[in-house]
Amino acid sequence: MRTQRQVVDYSLQKRVLLRDLHNGKIGTLEVCDASPYLKNAARFHGEPTDDRCPVCRRDNLTLVHYIYGDELKQSAGQARKLAELPVLATALREFQVFVVEVCQSCAWNHLTEQYLLGRDALQSDELTRSAAFAASASGRHHETGSSSRHWEGRQ
Ligand SMILES: [Zn+2]
Repeated sequence: MRTQRQVVDYSLQKRVLLRDLHNGKIGTLEVCDASPYLKNAARFHGEPTDDRCPVCRRDNLTLVHYIYGDELKQSAGQARKLAELPVLATALREFQVFVVEVCQSCAWNHLTEQYLLGRDALQSDELTRSAAFAASASGRHHETGSSSRHWEGRQ
């Protein structure tokens, strides 16, 4: 989605976790702990992928999109289908999306990405784009790594 803003990518954390798992520093039970709610969200609202589960390799991963923000009121914290996000993004000024990958076989789950969506994002994106155009820069700007925020579903 082109209006994604303040994207934080957690693939580094995932690699570290999987390395620890393969080294035996942590057990599968510690990382394959998707709650029944998360598994249900994956089944009913999840986005299927072609990526095999990195832990059990039996099933493909499903991406679940959780939305947070004051404007969402009672919907905050709910899982939404990916197709619903652009609709929300035009209706709301700003909300946060957390993308969690889930394996429905072994219950592996990990926060993969977070970003902001909403009309505000669209406007500032427009500004960023014209600024970037002026400077003849290109591509999407990723903010990587620095946040240590963990997916709230874990613990
Ligand atoms: Zn799995």
